[in-house]
Amino acid sequence: MQTLHVELGDRSYPIHIGADLLQNTKLLTAHIKSRQVCIVTNDTVAPLYLPAIQSALTEYDVSVVILPDGEAHKHWQTLNRIFDQLLADRHNRNTTLVALGGGVVGDMTGFAAASYQRSVNFIQIPTTLLSQVDSSVGGKTGINHPLGKNMIGAFHQPKAVLIDTLMLTSLPAREVSAGLAEVIKYGLLGDAEFLTWLTDHMDRLMALEHSDLAYAIARSCETKARIVAADEREGGMRALLNLGHTFGHAIETQMGYGTWLHGEAVGAGMAIAAELSQAMGWLSSRDVTQVRDILQRAALPVDAPDTMTVDQFIGHMQVDKKVLTGRMRFVLLRALGQAVITEDVPDAMLREVLANSIA
Ligand code: NAD
Ligand code: MG
Repeated sequence: MQTLHVELGDRSYPIHIGADLLQNTKLLTAHIKSRQVCIVTNDTVAPLYLPAIQSALTEYDVSVVILPDGEAHKHWQTLNRIFDQLLADRHNRNTTLVALGGGVVGDMTGFAAASYQRSVNFIQIPTTLLSQVDSSVGGKTGINHPLGKNMIGAFHQPKAVLIDTLMLTSLPAREVSAGLAEVIKYGLLGDAEFLTWLTDHMDRLMALEHSDLAYAIARSCETKARIVAADEREGGMRALLNLGHTFGHAIETQMGYGTWLHGEAVGAGMAIAAELSQAMGWLSSRDVTQVRDILQRAALPVDAPDTMTVDQFIGHMQVDKKVLTGRMRFVLLRALGQAVITEDVPDAMLREVLANSIA
């Protein structure tokens, strides 16, 4: 087992990573402060992993909330079911919520913990690769509103994150690839050595080799934790984590949420960001080939959907919440492993790169 620490002063917390972690029930119980625990999960994950968590908590008064699976349920009505259960079972301020599931369950449980009785403790047990390397680290929690994704939420850090690589065995292959997109992102944005390691080990990651997964997850969490520690509330550096995301969100919106998985859209978005970085004179064509190659080996798309137009792309990018003050800001690559934020992309250059990606 490996343990990382997210350094945020009195809100610091450990991330434990390994295979079959919950054999050691202390990893979980060490962060529970009273007898009361509420496990929140969904109807896909519950049959797979809920019994193991429950048997680690036989000494506690455990409530369970099983939510319907899916992003479509990440709204206040579903969130309210968590509050209903907590109040019905008379959970007090010393209760601990446990999020057992992917990013949807993690974001909703975290937000419930942030707001129940003005904030209680919570522990993350992320079960998708994406949630293990991304959403469980950093303290962003929340739900969707009909007018915007993740528009209602709070910053609330967990007391601990338990990442069990064995839980990835049951994950659908497309979800594994989607998680790998975020893993590749960390290499591209700030860790050239890791990018080389990923190039050498992608096939083993795709085959879910546990020691390789644990290494890739640890390195990813380290990068995210470092960026979050430097910029907890997204004033500056945290924006680098949006590499590939402005283009990706345009694809997700255009195709209709759920048609392309988020990670798939980010994969194509990172390929576009690499091509735009080449047009800016920062990456070589060899660099771009390396980026496309690693994405393809993770079974991710590297081109925009051919049904999309350049104007649709730019239209979506202009309303993206990450675009400030009229000028479009991009996260691009100065070099592989070195992301930068720039507003200096000429419109004609952007249009040409997008047109090439669509073709
Ligand atoms: P998800 O939670 O919807 O999980 C994907 C699918 O996999 C679901 O059907 C889920 O039930 C299933 N699943 C989960 N674990 C499984 C397992 N071990 N075996 C089999 N099936 C399993 O999606 P996700 O990709 O984990 O997370 C996406 C969500 O995370 C979005 O709502 C996004 O907004 C949020 N997010 C938040 C942050 C953050 O910083 N808070 C960062 C990135 C993404
Ligand atoms: Mg993302």
